[in-house]
Amino acid sequence: MRKIGLSLGLLFFALSCKTNPFTGKSTLNFTPNSSLFPTAFQQYDEFLKENKVVTGTADAQMVKKVGQRIARAAERWLNANGYEGYLKDYQWEYNLVRDDQVNAWCMPGGKIVVYTGLLPISQTETGLAVVMGHEVAHALADHGAQRMSAGTLQQIGAVGVAVATSGQSSMAQQAISQAYGLGTQVGVMLPFSRKHETEADAIGVQIMAIAGYDPGEAPKLWQRMKANSGGQAPPEILSTHPSSDSRIKNLTQLVPGARAEARKFGVTSFQ
Ligand SMILES: [Zn+2]
Repeated sequence: MRKIGLSLGLLFFALSCKTNPFTGKSTLNFTPNSSLFPTAFQQYDEFLKENKVVTGTADAQMVKKVGQRIARAAERWLNANGYEGYLKDYQWEYNLVRDDQVNAWCMPGGKIVVYTGLLPISQTETGLAVVMGHEVAHALADHGAQRMSAGTLQQIGAVGVAVATSGQSSMAQQAISQAYGLGTQVGVMLPFSRKHETEADAIGVQIMAIAGYDPGEAPKLWQRMKANSGGQAPPEILSTHPSSDSRIKNLTQLVPGARAEARKFGVTSFQ
């Protein structure tokens, strides 16, 4: 688990799990992007309508800038590794939302929200890139869909096929809403598994490095998260383990590999 290039392998695995019909493991075969994404996009738009989107500030601009750089890095990595077209149904969007939660998420299809409560912890553009890289990694590896139940996903897939373009299944809306904690009740978000968290950390540091952000900031960011959490009920990004300490240790070990990966893309200095 400590090899350089591990996370690359993880993403390969995650992607091939989805696209390889011979693995026989993936519930994602039931939910092509074409049925899940439109529902996610609609949910995202509704979320933005019902919440306070921050526009025109330096912070709001920073969220868009980091998001664009992270998305571009993900695209470069995918293209370089034989996954051209993987992002073709994505509609990247990055919004800062006024909310005290220390949190951020990326819905299926590249719809990202960063809460203002995260910014005092992320502190810098690079700190923000740690979190956005992590959240985008969840989306790229389809963790969000996996977080919804297999049964629900089958139904979303079936509905998607049945209604094709126009329909929005309430089942799908509910599943996304719960997976991303969009409901009115705070704290009902379904957690990612420990395995997914570790994967997202590993993929995230590589993406941020390819985007030109120093992956060495990742363990520092999680140290600040740990210091901030102070025994309270943790938000999504802290929710599930590995424990802060093993996460920080793991990320520290991943830093050299992430920098090496970035060098393959001509990135030799980091912000
Ligand atoms: Zn996560």
